[in-house]
Amino acid sequence: MTDATRVLVLNAGSSSVKYQLIDMVDGARLAAGLVERIGESNGRLAHTPRAGDPRETVQVFPDHGAALKAVAEELAADGLGLDSPELAAIGHRVVHGGQRFTAPTLVTDEVLTEIRRLIPVAPLHNPANITGIEVARSLRPDLPQVAVFDTAFHATMPEYAARYAIDKVVADQHRVRRYGFHGTSHQYVSRATARLLGKDPAEVNVIVLHLGNGGSASAVAGGVCVDTSMGLTPLEGLVMGTRSGDVDPGVVFHLHRVGGLSIDQIDELLNRRSGLLGLCGDNDMREIMRRADGGDADAKLAFDTYIHRLRKYLGGYYAVLGRVDAIAFTAGVGENAAPVRAAACAGLDELGIAVDPELNSVRSGEARVISPEYGRVTVAVVPTDEELEIAQQSFALVHGA
Ligand code: AMP
Repeated sequence: MTDATRVLVLNAGSSSVKYQLIDMVDGARLAAGLVERIGESNGRLAHTPRAGDPRETVQVFPDHGAALKAVAEELAADGLGLDSPELAAIGHRVVHGGQRFTAPTLVTDEVLTEIRRLIPVAPLHNPANITGIEVARSLRPDLPQVAVFDTAFHATMPEYAARYAIDKVVADQHRVRRYGFHGTSHQYVSRATARLLGKDPAEVNVIVLHLGNGGSASAVAGGVCVDTSMGLTPLEGLVMGTRSGDVDPGVVFHLHRVGGLSIDQIDELLNRRSGLLGLCGDNDMREIMRRADGGDADAKLAFDTYIHRLRKYLGGYYAVLGRVDAIAFTAGVGENAAPVRAAACAGLDELGIAVDPELNSVRSGEARVISPEYGRVTVAVVPTDEELEIAQQSFALVHGA
């Protein structure tokens, strides 16, 4: 065991890279930042050191290699260069791990080949994640690179929850099944919720509602995921910022055959122009609530549709779990939008679910209970921290913990 205690977490998207350097001794953020618009004419790097003012660089980053080199320079300027012996590992968020990767994995050539083989089921995400790993490897070939998969936490779903009821041979041939996403968040939040209750994760059943621009729900029984709302891709499930969530697959045939839309156009419609945006022209919940309060009918419909779907999953996962100890709201909407939490739980006293209006209106970055004392189910707001979870999993793997 070395005394290297830092982990650099990289989350490489198609045109962006988010990063955090975390010290595992105390979980402190030593630096964090974001490179945006990689490959475009107006690239931007925003770097936030632990101490001192945030810095911004506006320049062209032709590719992920250039972006990561610029990140390395920013870190070096803070005395935190990638050549530091204190760096224990680089942890990478990888969106799709398929059925093979159900735990954090040390990156080797063979592992990279496998992640590449999963591109057909994650064409928007895995290529960028792979690029991030390749560039990081080239910068520090000697350092352990760990892939942490968004799908991994959901690998414990029973087969009947992971299957679509379609021809088994066709499904298996094309690896069509429900994988689920946001796994690192669901894992982190379900554990943090158990901590908030003063219990071991193995003792509690939790429904986690990850409501950000993307959104997903999961049913976690004794620390193990038993169902989640996203499926083969992150399109299934809840109404999201720009994604439709559940639709009858017949909608696709209809839009193609009758509407004349191509498959690519339908893909774009359901992923980028649907959800809250499609219903009312806005995908930011703050703006939607403001408009709805002002009497805007489209915004009200978008809010109500969002809540209706959320309640269907809440009720569904209650039945899946049988006994629910806690409901945890997390991510941008879940952590900040008190009216969403109130509406999601309204009228569910018979199920032991209630929200205390005063507790619900408290604004805080801490995990907190918002249900009244008489509530059988603890309703809580539990801020997610995917970067810390990735860092912890990477560090544990490197140190054989
Ligand atoms: P995330 O993907 O977790 O970063 O969440 C982003 C989303 O959170 C935004 O698109 C907003 O809809 C929502 N959000 C952020 N802050 C607030 C807030 N104060 N009230 C309501 N919604 C918020």
